[in-house]
Amino acid sequence: MRRLLMCALTLVLAAGVSTLQAGKRLKRVKGPIVVLTFDDATESQRSVVGPLLKKYGFGATFYVCEFPGFEDKTKYMTWEQIRELSDMGFEIGNHSRSHGQMSRMSAEEVEAETAYIEEKCAEYGIPHPVTYAYPGYDNSPEGIAVLQRMGYTLARHGGDKPYMVGSSDKMLMPSYGVVDARFETDDFIRQALDEARDGQIVIFCLHGVPDLAHDFVSTSPENFEKLLKELKARRCKVIAMRDLLKYDL
Ligand SMILES: [Zn+2]
Repeated sequence: MRRLLMCALTLVLAAGVSTLQAGKRLKRVKGPIVVLTFDDATESQRSVVGPLLKKYGFGATFYVCEFPGFEDKTKYMTWEQIRELSDMGFEIGNHSRSHGQMSRMSAEEVEAETAYIEEKCAEYGIPHPVTYAYPGYDNSPEGIAVLQRMGYTLARHGGDKPYMVGSSDKMLMPSYGVVDARFETDDFIRQALDEARDGQIVIFCLHGVPDLAHDFVSTSPENFEKLLKELKARRCKVIAMRDLLKYDL
């Protein structure tokens, strides 16, 4: 009997260990969990997106780079403005220095492009980036290996589908691209949010609100608030990519 009890206890302990990582108990993914991400460091992310997210009490990740034309401050944030978003509690993630195609770069170039953003963050007192987003969703196995060597364990991709716990790749986490055209043509937002349930995470990828640098990825402030209202109405837990590190993915 005693042996049987010990055996049961061992089983219980073993089950508990599966959700332990580095001494921390990881949370189960219980929906609806939604991650908001914003790419390319466009100016409206500081002036429009940050304040609106604060109004709703939502978390988010801003994937920053120095896109060609970064010096035009009517279109792109300054590094001081990026720091302000960080100080407001948002995550600053790595989107590479110059937004080039990873699949066309050598391992050394990927490393230099990634390290540049880390150094800029250090220079401006922004926490070291811990998650990554592929510019143009483009990637390569060699580039992904470089990111992993540099300590990145979560990276965002595209694909318009949810992240499935236990089967999706953490270095190629799918996301839904949000742009104005999607609000006109279908019930895209509602359909995507229906996927935010137990064992699944919905990640949205936005750009500027509006995007003065690239019109085709722009989302108007009106459409953006439609999304925020829907997230509130559905009582979604709206978080940053780095918050996913607390979950058993
Ligand atoms: Zn981008």
